[in-house]
Amino acid sequence: MLIDTHCHLDAAEFDGDRDEVLAAARAAGVGGFLVPAVGAADFDAVAAFGTTHADCCHAFGIHPMYVQRAHEGDLDILQARLAEGTAVAVGEIGLDGYLPDGDLPRQARWFEAQLKLARMFELPVVLHIRRAQDEILKLLRRNPVPGGIAHAFNGSRQQAEAFIRLGFRLGFGGAMTFEGSRRVRELAMTLPLSALVLETDAPDIPPAWGVGRRNDPANLPRFARVLAELRGMPVDELIAATAANAVAAIPGLAALRRRERGAGRGD
Ligand SMILES: [Zn+2]
Repeated sequence: MLIDTHCHLDAAEFDGDRDEVLAAARAAGVGGFLVPAVGAADFDAVAAFGTTHADCCHAFGIHPMYVQRAHEGDLDILQARLAEGTAVAVGEIGLDGYLPDGDLPRQARWFEAQLKLARMFELPVVLHIRRAQDEILKLLRRNPVPGGIAHAFNGSRQQAEAFIRLGFRLGFGGAMTFEGSRRVRELAMTLPLSALVLETDAPDIPPAWGVGRRNDPANLPRFARVLAELRGMPVDELIAATAANAVAAIPGLAALRRRERGAGRGD
């Protein structure tokens, strides 16, 4: 089953045609969606996907780009929402060293606090990492969690291997569709297949064939074909392997399969 392990279906970019976007992705063959949160304000919105759509799961977390405007009480809200037991991961969390006004020490404090919650609830994490790979690795070693996904991975081979050793899978999507993205493509080609998962990060990170346009989850099958071509393997095998990797990284995604077989609620 084709699983989009990172898809912001609640984003405002989809306000005009969200149902059509979801329907188009399903028609294209996407069987499961993980919808991560970016802040306390959208916990209800992402939970609505996980609890009403049979093929969606959600994660609760506070994204580093939203830490600046977050309130201290948001961590208590996060803890209370995680205690509900509906989220399959803590995310999207991490560090963004690319933000012009990003306060990295503040980001790191929020990141560590959320890693502690992941450990408390024995949940994997969905990581956002920009220009902060080694700092994230350091904080993960200090605050061990049950693995997860390093989303839109764009670090070095050495950093990739360090994440894999810590029990993480690496997310590949739009970036690998650009021939100029040599490092990302090289990693997609040569890392162990067991380390890879597919994602769109919709509506962000549009592929080479959609520059300047919104990225939709319906692009995922084409991402799978690109990755299969890079690795010189049949796309069906690639899809099966990356789906198994996604479930290994985030065990709660296994429910998507059961729901798909018709045992669940919603549509
Ligand atoms: Zn994201």
